[in-house]
Amino acid sequence: MIDILKTRLVKGVVTKRIAASKTAVYEPAGAQLKALIAEKFGRSLNIREVDTGSCAACESEIIACNNPIYDLSRFGVNFVASPRHADCLLVTGPVSKNMAQALRSTYDAMPEPKFVITLGDCAFDGGPFKGSYYIENGAKSIVPVALHIPGCPPDPETIINSLLNFLRI
Ligand code: SF4
Repeated sequence: MIDILKTRLVKGVVTKRIAASKTAVYEPAGAQLKALIAEKFGRSLNIREVDTGSCAACESEIIACNNPIYDLSRFGVNFVASPRHADCLLVTGPVSKNMAQALRSTYDAMPEPKFVITLGDCAFDGGPFKGSYYIENGAKSIVPVALHIPGCPPDPETIINSLLNFLRI
């Protein structure tokens, strides 16, 4: 503990201010997203994520969406632990054979109305793992998919803008 305090005193505060040019990219999209979610759901949009065998880079970008820079929850997007609390199922990874049933069961456990988003090229059709003997033909072969967010992996701005464009429909 003493060492930690000494290091802190020597180094000072190491976090940086967010560049204004950076926030200008996603703040307007986030504000629109918040308004659309309020209009369509009357509350927050609750998302349950299922990793069906990803390399974890897609998860890193999802985690980045919730870091202090993007702070997606302030725009009305929450990640929930139970499918029973979810409006949306977010799928990452190439859907390995042993995750197919888990994905289906998670979808079945969600209350209606519900929709599915695939995030990352793997979830769409296997991406770099396409053709492997141990994956399904994308999440769409297991559950109905309403939106695909492309990328390997997609960054937070792409995720926010894709959600925004989808909810505008
Ligand atoms: S789409 Fe790319 S980043 Fe995402 S899980 Fe697949 S290989 Fe990893």
